[in-house]
Amino acid sequence: MMKHIEGIGVALFLMGAFSFGVTLLSKETTLLATTPSVPIVASVKNIVSGPVQIENDEAVSQQVALVITAATVAQKNTSAPLFRSSCLKGSGDPDASMMAISPTVGINVSYVPDDLVSIPKSYTKDSSFCLTQATKDAVVTLIDAAHTEGFSIKVSSAFRSYGTQSYLYRMHFDILKLTRKTVALAGHSEHQLGTAVDLSGASIGYKSAAASFGTTPEYAWLIAHASEYGFVQSYPKGTESITGYATEPWHFRYVGKEIAQAIAQEGVTLYEYLNKMTGEAVSI
Ligand SMILES: [Zn+2]
Repeated sequence: MMKHIEGIGVALFLMGAFSFGVTLLSKETTLLATTPSVPIVASVKNIVSGPVQIENDEAVSQQVALVITAATVAQKNTSAPLFRSSCLKGSGDPDASMMAISPTVGINVSYVPDDLVSIPKSYTKDSSFCLTQATKDAVVTLIDAAHTEGFSIKVSSAFRSYGTQSYLYRMHFDILKLTRKTVALAGHSEHQLGTAVDLSGASIGYKSAAASFGTTPEYAWLIAHASEYGFVQSYPKGTESITGYATEPWHFRYVGKEIAQAIAQEGVTLYEYLNKMTGEAVSI
């Protein structure tokens, strides 16, 4: 954490001479900032690469947001993955993996699942990601199965801590003025469960969180087969009024084969199914 804060200090020191300019490349994971400036790039890289963990620390998140907003940052046409991190240790909170999450019902600030493990790099787009052990095993099996049928799929986002999600939300909503439904408020993202993945495919260059993924052959394969591996698309087209979130063809959550296949057969949303299962109100 100290290294992280020192990096921010350097960036703050250097940023004064440069004008602003930040562009969002991916809705969920990757920031692309453009500028002719070079020195600031190294500073910001100190912040966004290496073993950086933004965990439940609003102050640090605010400083990072300040740096990236105020500094004219980064390399033209180069993406800088924001959240490279080793897997966090579990928080010891009760398991929330079957929780129905909505814009109004969220997860504990402290919640980190107990068994986060890294996804092998060859299964990810360009960064280190963590998932629960069962989710990691299932997504590896799913990607291998797709590959044998000629479809190349990779993970473009996975576990995100409350602090990371808080930072993303600030970037999207407060700074970039995007609408609330394009990114979940901290505590209201399935990514904090460690059981949600964003997927992409070779046919769109593994672009993250892209609406166009919904028209790809990889997506069609997922819709036909994801439930066989225990995954459900959390926010299908046309369910916004039920789930409270915009359509996300790239976002899948692991719930196990039995539940995933039941949801596929019943034609309901994951949100409705989990609410029914846990006996909670469906209204959001
Ligand atoms: Zn997602």
